[in-house]
Amino acid sequence: MRRLILLIFGLVLSACDTGSLRVQPVEEWQQPSTDFQVDVLTFREISQRVGDVARAECKRRSNVSNCDFSIVVDLNPRAPANAFQTLDDDNQPVIIFTRAMIQSVENADELAFVMGHESAHHILRHIPRQSENSRESAAIFGELARIAGANDADLEQAQKLGAQVGAQIYVKDFELEADRLGTIITHRAGYNPLLGARYFARIPDPGDRFLGTHPPNAQRVEIVLETSRQLGLTQ
Ligand SMILES: [Zn+2]
Repeated sequence: MRRLILLIFGLVLSACDTGSLRVQPVEEWQQPSTDFQVDVLTFREISQRVGDVARAECKRRSNVSNCDFSIVVDLNPRAPANAFQTLDDDNQPVIIFTRAMIQSVENADELAFVMGHESAHHILRHIPRQSENSRESAAIFGELARIAGANDADLEQAQKLGAQVGAQIYVKDFELEADRLGTIITHRAGYNPLLGARYFARIPDPGDRFLGTHPPNAQRVEIVLETSRQLGLTQ
């Protein structure tokens, strides 16, 4: 049991540490330089349009009640290119863009696509679903360890490991689900998801790693192409 635990433990990636964040709403943010392909007024317009579509799609679903999206900028100038979704103190969804992320997009469609993707994570309840998977997997690992006759310390270790594996196991599927709905949201907001998804061509390909956090870029592009075809969009 211990060897199995250690083996799997070595494959589990540790969660990203966001540290203490200082953020500003996109409506108040001042772009620090002209060295951006998408200027601040365009960024605000994208936030407005994608935000409206995301709110409407969120409210349409009976299993989500918190739909008041806000878009904010991480003020840390050294934060790497990243965009992610979290919840504020009122349990409302927040999409956070780092400065490097805004700087790394080449046009409005790419920024809209990233925003659509992040809003989809919330609409599809990926954070609570990940917690549920984590709890269930912790219980299963604990039960297996108990059957194997583990002592209390090993039992606790097995539950912790189960929680980590459970949190990671569907993460790649969640990314592809978010790409699919993100494509639809981007399109409805008036942007082109096919141009937006070109962003994938420039970011490093994570490859197809067991329990990795992201699917290979080619798989993500395929989902965008397939969804776009269903929406009647052609390249
Ligand atoms: Zn994602």
